[in-house]
Amino acid sequence: MNHPENGSEYKGLQVNSGVAQPPSVNPYMRALRRKPIPSTAEMVEGILKGDMTMLSRAVTLIESLHPDHYAKAQEVIEKCLPFSGKSRRIGITGVPGAGKSTSIDVFGLHVLKSGGKLAVLAIDPSSERTNGSILGDKTRMEKLSLHPDAFIRPSPSAGSLGGVARKTRETVVLCEAAGFNNIFIETVGVGQSETAVHSMVDFFLLIQLAGTGDELQGIKRGIMEMADGIVINKADGDNINRAKLAQAQFRSALHLFPPTASGWQPEVLTYSGYFELGIPEVWNMIDRYFEFVNANGYFEERRQQQARYWMRETIDEQLRNHFYRDHAIERMLTGLEQSVLENRLSSFTAATEVLDSYFRRFH
Ligand code: GDP
Repeated sequence: MNHPENGSEYKGLQVNSGVAQPPSVNPYMRALRRKPIPSTAEMVEGILKGDMTMLSRAVTLIESLHPDHYAKAQEVIEKCLPFSGKSRRIGITGVPGAGKSTSIDVFGLHVLKSGGKLAVLAIDPSSERTNGSILGDKTRMEKLSLHPDAFIRPSPSAGSLGGVARKTRETVVLCEAAGFNNIFIETVGVGQSETAVHSMVDFFLLIQLAGTGDELQGIKRGIMEMADGIVINKADGDNINRAKLAQAQFRSALHLFPPTASGWQPEVLTYSGYFELGIPEVWNMIDRYFEFVNANGYFEERRQQQARYWMRETIDEQLRNHFYRDHAIERMLTGLEQSVLENRLSSFTAATEVLDSYFRRFH
């Protein structure tokens, strides 16, 4: 009112008082800073209630390289352990381009149709892209990432396979405690990571493509032997016949393998992830597998074997870390390596010398 132009001669005009100059420092900055890490009890409580934000934060702690975070994550895992185990853990592998993301998107939605929750995790030790991974990237699973009952998490950042695999296995525990009854673990079928995934899942699905007629050539025998089911993707359009041919070839190849420990005969199916053809059939196979191994006790047996395997793996990893991260050992190794390279010492003698000096400390 006190502005001169608010006087009666200036009809139709209203001048408001201005806005104060904002301070040069953003007053909301404080609020933008990272929230403090919740207590172990808060985290466990949140996870058990199925709070996805809390789950995410706990997984971030698992992935952290900070020793305090690691210790806290271990406490949370320990508390969640009694509530874990009640899920179907399914490993999915295939070479890049086989259609893993497309397929996980449709398989995931199919699974969620019958209710429950689905977590999609990944193991990709090779990737160093954006915080670890190309796998599990939300944009690759467009529909699933929008589903309220899906939790998608990329692979922990690149590191030793053992380390990456352990983190994923620990994440499985938290997801199960948060009520996820379906867990998919994706990996690229090109390295050792399939073995790691195989040793943490109940069912291992191998996604294949129909190739140029000699499909079986390129596939590592070891991976085929691990598979509980082989599915040939992109069985659509002109590709249907080739996919059927590949199916027949895989079937006959599987017959040459020794019987599986579960007694289950791995099946070979064709489908199209992109056109959503044959999806229920793939899932029926997986359902039948679970019925089969639940009935013959193999389900429990495999889980126990895996628990034993991971205990041993963890011991191996920690021993190796303890050894290699030791400065004195590191110095000694460098010196002795040089002697080996110059042929002044045999590899065996050099190794024994380092190990002896390491073990002497514990006597
Ligand atoms: P990933 O690397 O194994 O995750 O494979 P993607 O899911 O990214 O798929 C690789 C390419 O194959 C993409 O261009 C997809 O659109 C295509 N693709 C995936 N599934 C199918 C399918 O069932 N049929 C056809 N024709 N193309 C597919």
